[in-house]
Amino acid sequence: MSTDVFSAALQRLDLGAAHAKVHPETLLRLRQPKQLIEVSIPVRMDDGSLRIFTGYRCKHDDTRGPAKGGIRFHQDVTVEEVKALAFWMTFKCACVGLPFGGGKGGVIVDPRTLSTAELERLSRGYMRAIAFAVGVDVDVPAPDVNTGPMIMAWMADEYAVVTGKREPGVITGKPVAVGGSLGRDDATARGGYYVLKELEKRLGWSERSAKRVVIQGFGNAGENMARLCAADSGYKVIAVSDHTGGRYNPDGLDIALLAAHKEETHKLLPAARCNAGTREISNAELLELECDLLVPAAIENVITEANAGKVKAKAILELANGPCTPGADVTLRGKGVHVVPDILANAGGVTVSYFEWTQNKSGFYWELPRVHEELRKKMGAEFSEVYDLSVEKKIDMRTAAYAHALQRLAPALESTGTRRVYAKE
Ligand code: NAD
Repeated sequence: MSTDVFSAALQRLDLGAAHAKVHPETLLRLRQPKQLIEVSIPVRMDDGSLRIFTGYRCKHDDTRGPAKGGIRFHQDVTVEEVKALAFWMTFKCACVGLPFGGGKGGVIVDPRTLSTAELERLSRGYMRAIAFAVGVDVDVPAPDVNTGPMIMAWMADEYAVVTGKREPGVITGKPVAVGGSLGRDDATARGGYYVLKELEKRLGWSERSAKRVVIQGFGNAGENMARLCAADSGYKVIAVSDHTGGRYNPDGLDIALLAAHKEETHKLLPAARCNAGTREISNAELLELECDLLVPAAIENVITEANAGKVKAKAILELANGPCTPGADVTLRGKGVHVVPDILANAGGVTVSYFEWTQNKSGFYWELPRVHEELRKKMGAEFSEVYDLSVEKKIDMRTAAYAHALQRLAPALESTGTRRVYAKE
């Protein structure tokens, strides 16, 4: 099976379609993005030189509402990856019942090589280049890997400069002071955590012994997940990592210590300065640790046919997009590992982005407890639907999540007619 990320995404569509009432024309339409834009962004560097960066924005589908999806700044961004990420957003928004389609953007850049002023010029330049294609009811970007609230604030501000009107709902994940939602900062992890609380009920995990959690990635998704699990007596986080490597302690890591160090230095605390009994570990070793829950929260394609057989976790909660390849899925299913798929597990971020967008549109801002409660209700209800469908049809949760999403996408795409209507089949 292919590990090309867009082909992998399409393979999941076919699996889900086998269990949903969907017309072949709908599948044909969903196999291609509706719009794909490539832009070049000239940026004046601090030393006076000019660099041209390449960026993309993809609108996969907007039948159920404006396209929605983040912007990634990474040196490995490719057009295929942007298309796959936009495709996943269409299915994610449908899976959790948000009135959005799917979009995604990316710029080929290693942002760590830029000064803050260069990063601002790049962010503003990217928004200037795609401004004609985004809008509060058209396509609504958000943060993704290596982009955060300040970059969203620069982009919202640039959009206001270009269009002459200040429309905060054009982008989500903004700082709270300029129309961001309370609770957006840890929403992806919190949504995943609420899903985990439902999963533990279904799996009958008792709270008597703390379940061991391993997390790959210590950024927005991974670090917040580590904090939430560490604060829950039912769990102990035994390993975390970033792109430089991991830290492992079978008795549980002191997450507060790691988080404080990262806040100060943007780096993972060396093992020698973690709580006693911690040692360094590679990312490859981390994925194969004996544990109850493995949370990939970094990048795509980390669990493949090559290492899936060595995964010892009882369950996997995909906070990253696309961490398991289709080939890995087959192996994991055979081993009885419960995989809560990305389009469900990490939908907390886009759900609170939806709350932010509705707050921007109405001009009425919510208190934090309301954000948490609405998120908990949404994630719990959609998890239950997907889990029950997987039990009813005897399929894995990924296939069930795609089938569940298609049950919302198909009526929308078919509302304007299929061959059945025109040819009176
Ligand atoms: P981030 O940039 O805040 O953090 C990424 C983390 O992964 C960092 O700790 C980085 O060091 C680590 N990392 C990068 N390459 C790695 C590698 N090769 N091996 C191990 N670790 C590596 O990004 P994020 O926002 O936390 O996003 C992480 C994943 O979650 C992505 O797949 C993203 O698409 C997905 N996601 C994020 C959100 C969100 O709201 N932030 C929402 C949905 C999905």
